[in-house]
Amino acid sequence: MVRRARGPSYHGRMSSPHETPPGPAAPSPVRDREDIDPRGKKRDRSWPPAPEPLPFPVIDNHCHLDFADGDEQLSIHDHVARAAAAGIDAQITIGSDLEAVRWTAALLASADCPPSLRGGVAVHPNEAALHVRGRDHQGRELVGLDEAIGEVSALLRGPGMVVVGETGLDWFRTSREDEAARTAQIDSFRAHIALAKELDLPLQIHDRDAHRDVLEVLEADGAPERTVFHCFSGDAEFARECVDRGWFLSFAGTVTFKNAADLRGALAEVGLGQVMVETDAPFLTPVPYRGRPNSSYLIPLTMATIAEVTGTDLEQACRTIRTTTQDVYRWPEGVPA
Ligand SMILES: [Zn+2]
Repeated sequence: MVRRARGPSYHGRMSSPHETPPGPAAPSPVRDREDIDPRGKKRDRSWPPAPEPLPFPVIDNHCHLDFADGDEQLSIHDHVARAAAAGIDAQITIGSDLEAVRWTAALLASADCPPSLRGGVAVHPNEAALHVRGRDHQGRELVGLDEAIGEVSALLRGPGMVVVGETGLDWFRTSREDEAARTAQIDSFRAHIALAKELDLPLQIHDRDAHRDVLEVLEADGAPERTVFHCFSGDAEFARECVDRGWFLSFAGTVTFKNAADLRGALAEVGLGQVMVETDAPFLTPVPYRGRPNSSYLIPLTMATIAEVTGTDLEQACRTIRTTTQDVYRWPEGVPA
């Protein structure tokens, strides 16, 4: 995911599931996304109109339902209903800092969690660096990295968890030259690789400006059997290297961006065989709605580009991607599909 400064988070509404058993209601998104864009301009927070529905349903394999965005507040059930109407009938929501990890676990354990929803949790690489430092961006105290990963490990054993992620390396938000931060990210990445193997779960990798180092760690430790590059950002050569190793590439709205010719080249190079689709919502809204709020119902815009780049009929592209996604996450029979 793309990390941005946030406003007040959680308002103390979610406590650790270790302390308080989750209540019956699905929690609403409670963390506000920043409404200033990276260039300091105020974002357009209106929800984009719904695109033409997909001819065959797909699964959004990476979004962040803990983030609230938009001028109109959508509940978890609103997101799920809008997605279903657009042909995205299931989603995987990812919790990537300790608060979001707890929130995700509580959502999945709640009695009115939508049955089509699954989840994954991990300590995000940029968070790993903060846990080692001991403080977050607001100066609040954080537990140590081992303790944070210990909680992730415990909660991954709860209901609805289908993936360890997102973990990996980020040399964009955290400097590679900061030795403590670099070591923290690598240690955390390795611990999550081990966790995915122990629990026999897929691993979702966050790789930002770190292709070579991610590859090196995966090769050194041995990648989990099901390894997914979330929001794939490499070029054709790197895509080929990943696919040749049996890994999966998940494409987000970035593949529609005007300046993303390399990414489309990567997709064209490898074809659809080991490809999946995601939003990383509320971030990375596809063209022509960049900067506005994102949600799973906008996946048809990304799917149109994926079909076009791979020279595939849209329905066939959806069918292929759905099969891959169900296989990777071992989507249980009988769940809305
Ligand atoms: Zn993400």
